Amino acid sequence: MSTTRFAPSPTGYMHIGNLRTALFNYLISRKSGGTFILRIDDTDPERSKQEYVDGIKQDLEWLGLHWDRVEHQSDRFDRYAEIADQLRDMGKFYECFETPVELDLKRKKQLNMSKPPVYDRSGLALTEAERDELRSERAAHWRFMLDQNRIEWADGILGDLSIDAASVSDPVLIRGDGQVLYTLASICDDTDMGVTHVVRGSDHVTNTATQIQMIRAIGGTVPEFAHHSLLTGPKGEGLSKRLGSLALRDIRESGVQPMALLSHLARLGSSDPVELCGSIDEIVAGFDLKKFGSAPTKFDKADLYPLTAKYLQNLDLSAVLGKISAMGVPTDEAENFWNAVRGNILTLKDLDSWWGLIQKGADPKIDDEDQEFVSRAIALLPDRPFDNQTWSTWTQEVKVATGRKGKSLFMPLRKALTGMSHGPDMGTLLPLLKVIKR
Ligand code: GLU
Repeated sequence: MSTTRFAPSPTGYMHIGNLRTALFNYLISRKSGGTFILRIDDTDPERSKQEYVDGIKQDLEWLGLHWDRVEHQSDRFDRYAEIADQLRDMGKFYECFETPVELDLKRKKQLNMSKPPVYDRSGLALTEAERDELRSERAAHWRFMLDQNRIEWADGILGDLSIDAASVSDPVLIRGDGQVLYTLASICDDTDMGVTHVVRGSDHVTNTATQIQMIRAIGGTVPEFAHHSLLTGPKGEGLSKRLGSLALRDIRESGVQPMALLSHLARLGSSDPVELCGSIDEIVAGFDLKKFGSAPTKFDKADLYPLTAKYLQNLDLSAVLGKISAMGVPTDEAENFWNAVRGNILTLKDLDSWWGLIQKGADPKIDDEDQEFVSRAIALLPDRPFDNQTWSTWTQEVKVATGRKGKSLFMPLRKALTGMSHGPDMGTLLPLLKVIKR
């Protein structure tokens, strides 16, 4: 049984990139009948906002990705202090005094000399007297002392990976103002909460290497790590700047259905084709992390609409009756209305325009060469009430009267009645039309 966690920092609303991470972790836990933890990474009091915690929960609930429990890092500062003490006692933790400007200067010098910009461990070389003096001038930050050997792991997506710890700076775990940083909190939580699998973006690969050493240092069991590729836009462009416009709440607002979004993301970037699923259980059953590749994955929001349309098309009236009734469609017309338009909507929002057309009539679209034909046809339209046979008997009569057939018979009539050259089956639509503009 796997224990996974989705660990957003509540510094913004969830976007499509976060969802990929959340979904993979959710699916892994559900596949094994395990536990899915929602972990709020709120160690930064200035940037973390309750509004975003609420927003993240609402987005997950909308999608049906239910968590088994919530943990807040801000509730666990005492525990992080304990772990910091443990690392200090083990000599794995050391004080440093450089200011950000000094560190920046060091990095620039190293780069000028074509050296990797790795922290030079000056903090470690200080004498006790120098340290005392610096302490009286400024607050120390604390770094974890990495063992400078190769860190290896079998990544669930990227395969066997190894990173030379000597090429990585000793990570800062506690800032000068005492704020515990994500890395310390995260290794502590993953260990205490028995997390067995961690899937996150490939931008975390180096973090993973250092975290493996830290987890071992505090006596934890290293989870299985997997790093999914980052999403790009449809042309391969980086998404980071556009992620704001790919917020889940905006996607929801635009009418995308949860099942369409989840089905798409559960397959995008894998060797399996994207297929619309009918339920989360079906998505769980068809999910296999091993099928995902390391190449950046193109995401196009436009792909969500055909899937949404397909999902909606298969819904029974009962699933949409609430929405349809709220629009003012009389109960006895609801079934006919839904059957007429279900195949011609991308999202439920499109129901409004069809209902508007039915109630108010469409501005007829009549080509010059069809003017006379349409006038004759309309004159032949039987009196109301119309039924499901009206269209076929009427068009049969028009055919006999005018000699037209096929497309040249049906298309001008469709355009005259709906103002469009495509749309619902006219046999079903005609009896619903309350107004026919001439
Ligand atoms: N809060 C971190 C982030 O959003 C979590 C990363 C992780 O999964 O460890 O990047």
